[in-house]
Amino acid sequence: MEISADAKFKRILLKLSGESFTHPGERGISMDQVLKAAQQIAQAHKMGCQVGVVIGGGNILRGSQFISANSSAIVNPASAHYMGMLATVINGLALADAIESMGCTARLMSAIRMDGICEPYIRRRAKRHLEKDRVIIMAAGTGRPYVTTDTAAASYALEIEAEVLMKATKVDGVYSDDPNKNPHAVLYTELDYSSVLEQNLRFMDSTAISHCMEHSLPVMVFNYQKEGNIQRAVAGEKIGTWIGSRATAKTVG
Ligand code: UDP
Repeated sequence: MEISADAKFKRILLKLSGESFTHPGERGISMDQVLKAAQQIAQAHKMGCQVGVVIGGGNILRGSQFISANSSAIVNPASAHYMGMLATVINGLALADAIESMGCTARLMSAIRMDGICEPYIRRRAKRHLEKDRVIIMAAGTGRPYVTTDTAAASYALEIEAEVLMKATKVDGVYSDDPNKNPHAVLYTELDYSSVLEQNLRFMDSTAISHCMEHSLPVMVFNYQKEGNIQRAVAGEKIGTWIGSRATAKTVG
């Protein structure tokens, strides 16, 4: 099906996990994967949508890796989370250059000051970049340990006044169970925030969902690996799962 050339959403916050930068079962950064994400972001941007991106760091490391029995005696849990935040900056540098290679201007902003590598995140400056047609990438999460980049994404979406938080994943949306393990898992097309929390659907951390619920920020979860899906989402096509206040738990099939 042809994708509409017009953006329904004029400003979005896209959350990309670090895993989107690598091949299944691998770690680190594969530039071919980064370029695929950058290409979709550039296309969405060319549709007239202002794009803010929050990037994860799970392809490099997550704080939780070091917060288990043996390692926590050596690495302080807060230090482990700071290591995770630094991983997101490495990804952010790769993504910013990849987006610029597609002919769009991008700015990498960090919640932790790293002068010489990227700009500090300053809300007014971030909005100014968006108004000037620059894609902004927010790295280092919230700048605080013990949370994930999902929480950062919810918080930045509110700050930049995005119309929707788009969570790009490797599956088609939110399922009743892990579709890779349970063949009977059903895909939800719509959900309300409370059902997500009550059913403990773990596509996003609960702090992030609570934040979205409190501020009525809609969330879209969809498969970014299907080419053109970020553009489809920006065009307002009903792909994946829509999470909002009044949605009923509709399923597919
Ligand atoms: N992190 C943190 N504070 C934040 C965001 C991230 O401490 O505000 C740390 C946390 O340890 C996390 C890691 O950075 O595991 C990488 O982020 P995340 O796990 O969200 O990456 P993703 O799973 O999206 O690739």
